[in-house]
Amino acid sequence: MNDFFGSAPPLVPPLVTSAVFRVRDLDHLDQIIGGETPGYIYARDGHPNAKLLADDLSKRHRAEWTLICSSGMAAISLAILGCVSSGERIVASNRLYGRTNKLLREEMKRFNVEVDFVDVNDLNRVESALRKPTKLLIVETISNPTLRVAPLIELVAICKKGAVKLLVDNTFASPVLCRPLELGADLVMESLTKMIGGHSDVTLGSLSGSDSKGLKQFQPIHTTWGFASNPFDCWLTCRGLETLDLRMNQASLNATALASWMRNRKSVLRVLHPSLVNHPDHDLAKSLLPLGTGNMLSFEIAGGRDGVNHFMRSSVGIPFCPSLGHTTTTCSYPAGTSHRYDSAEEKATQGITEGLIRLSVGTESIDQIKIHFGEPGALATGE
Ligand SMILES: *Cc1c(COP(=O)(O)O)cnc(C)c1O
Repeated sequence: MNDFFGSAPPLVPPLVTSAVFRVRDLDHLDQIIGGETPGYIYARDGHPNAKLLADDLSKRHRAEWTLICSSGMAAISLAILGCVSSGERIVASNRLYGRTNKLLREEMKRFNVEVDFVDVNDLNRVESALRKPTKLLIVETISNPTLRVAPLIELVAICKKGAVKLLVDNTFASPVLCRPLELGADLVMESLTKMIGGHSDVTLGSLSGSDSKGLKQFQPIHTTWGFASNPFDCWLTCRGLETLDLRMNQASLNATALASWMRNRKSVLRVLHPSLVNHPDHDLAKSLLPLGTGNMLSFEIAGGRDGVNHFMRSSVGIPFCPSLGHTTTTCSYPAGTSHRYDSAEEKATQGITEGLIRLSVGTESIDQIKIHFGEPGALATGE
């Protein structure tokens, strides 16, 4: 097996699908388990393609360790299981991804974990919510779908005072635009399904930490609860990472250009992107995300549901797919997908209206994207 590749190894890493590995003898077994020699035994515990991907992500996030999980939700579950026990508290942003919200609102009750939802841009409110026995604060760098930016530096300071761990869901920013661990956060997760995988063909998540002792704490939970990743998905994600910087930078530039272009379209009532001066977190975004404010953009179209249907039917180049981070531009509808089960009241507080469309802006040329919008005409006529 050692000469499988002859004398020259392949440039592209091999895909290792084996679920189990051949251990030489009992001494070898002890050495692998004791960490004295590198090696794998059983793929649920670890496998080479997950290790390659984890090492790449650790470098990008300046992390001490990274664990690859079967999905972004698995990574969030792992973070919670590693930080919080029955009888303790979590404080969470009131603008989280729909499923994270569901996990915190419905599943945590069964474990006797109290969750308090707060506006994380209201620092006084956060500080008083972090009372004992709070163990974890969960925020998103850029939130969905109103693209509010979390004041990470201030939140780090508040968490440190209260000995509370800060978990940042960095999916909308990716390590290209933001590295929360460098700012002092304890844990960062990414849904690799989105921009990092980048081609809508994997489901994976990652959890990275800044404390070198963290791996010992989180690895056994990862293995025992069965959060293991699929080798092929890891392989594809490593390939996606090779172009992450290119894609993220281009898509973020496109979103910025599109946001100001759309503001002048007659049928567009409002545009939400942190690059716009009228966005509530514009100044914060300038300091926290100096390289760009991301590829996600939301806008409200005139005519409510009918206006949305008209947009979807006429802009065939922008598929309606309730996900994000594809190479090309797609759209989603928060009121009907990610926030479908939120109460009318909750939608109203968050500004999720009937006419709100969310765009995941892609890497096409900006002219191509405008053509997809039916340029020149469809939107401008306001029909
Ligand atoms: C998609 C997403 C998740 C969950 O990731 P999955 O890979 O779908 O499990 C979590 N947070 C954010 C912000 C997301 O967009």
